[in-house]
Amino acid sequence: MWCNRYKAGLILIAVLIFYGFIVACSKQNTFSETRFLLGTDVEIKVIAKNKPAAQRAINTAFSEIEGIEKITSSFIEGNELALLNKAGSSGNCELFNIIDESLYFSRLTNGAFDITVSPLIKLWGFKIGKHKVPTDSEIKEILKIVGYQRIILDYKNKKVYLNKSRIDLGGIAKGYAIDNAIKVLKTSGIKKGLVNAGGDIRFIGDKTWSIGIQHPRMRSKLVKKIKLKNRAIVTSGDYERYFVENNKRYHHIINPVTGYPATECVSITVIANDALSADALATGLFVLGVTRGMRLIESLKDTEAIIIDSDGNIFTSEGIKD
Ligand code: ADP
Ligand code: MG
Repeated sequence: MWCNRYKAGLILIAVLIFYGFIVACSKQNTFSETRFLLGTDVEIKVIAKNKPAAQRAINTAFSEIEGIEKITSSFIEGNELALLNKAGSSGNCELFNIIDESLYFSRLTNGAFDITVSPLIKLWGFKIGKHKVPTDSEIKEILKIVGYQRIILDYKNKKVYLNKSRIDLGGIAKGYAIDNAIKVLKTSGIKKGLVNAGGDIRFIGDKTWSIGIQHPRMRSKLVKKIKLKNRAIVTSGDYERYFVENNKRYHHIINPVTGYPATECVSITVIANDALSADALATGLFVLGVTRGMRLIESLKDTEAIIIDSDGNIFTSEGIKD
């Protein structure tokens, strides 16, 4: 089974208490638009007084996301990412920044988050949707060029060298795009709003939003409800892109050490101050598993997680325990 457009995980339940009151007092309205970008529905919602200004801000934020998608997508032939993977080096500033961030999270997760899994993603058929279970020796061969330590960054000239590796930014690009869209909204004068890319959301402003975290197997069931303000929340699940062969589920988050899909967890939700951190950590924690993942989350400031393991057990970090 191939389900590459299914992505939910989080649902926005409701607008906060007193919202009606605030609207009545300050004559603020909600403006929102949804476009299909980054392989999913992206919604930008802003709360503002002036409609033309809100619409301009929304349009500029969407252009920002489009620009990032064009450069970082693995699915656009001949783009900057494809050129980097082909040539082995690039001076593209956007790529430099996102790779720099990726390497930070590789070190933080002890290599669990690793953008050099790209050739493994391809081997398992997740790139073009022609999935297959590879042989052990095929995986071993590919593992020779996997490892974030291969990537060299020349900070002075802002250049990236891949040293035979190839990269895939699918585990971090969405977070990066959300953060940049939020930056655009802020510089356009927007004080309250959100960017929601298929359930990966960042909120801005002093408004509290209520979020429901869906059960990864029983979609109508909520695992937890959370109230958030000025934060980002991202979910990685094994139900987004997967196939089943001989009754076994193989999904798109790969353990860079073994070359096989990570098996300990089915869903990871991370809450952080920005979407990039939440995105990279959600993918990284998937590989780290419950014990090492929670240990990492508890060591980080302003960062929380809800982990569901493959037996359906739910683990919640200290800061969001009821
Ligand atoms: P989604 O983008 O579907 O919301 P994730 O953020 O968890 O989900 O990213 C999954 C994507 O990350 C995969 O499709 C692949 O491109 C990439 N990826 C897979 N395994 C890893 C890994 N161990 N480290 C970094 N990126 C990964
Ligand atoms: Mg991710």
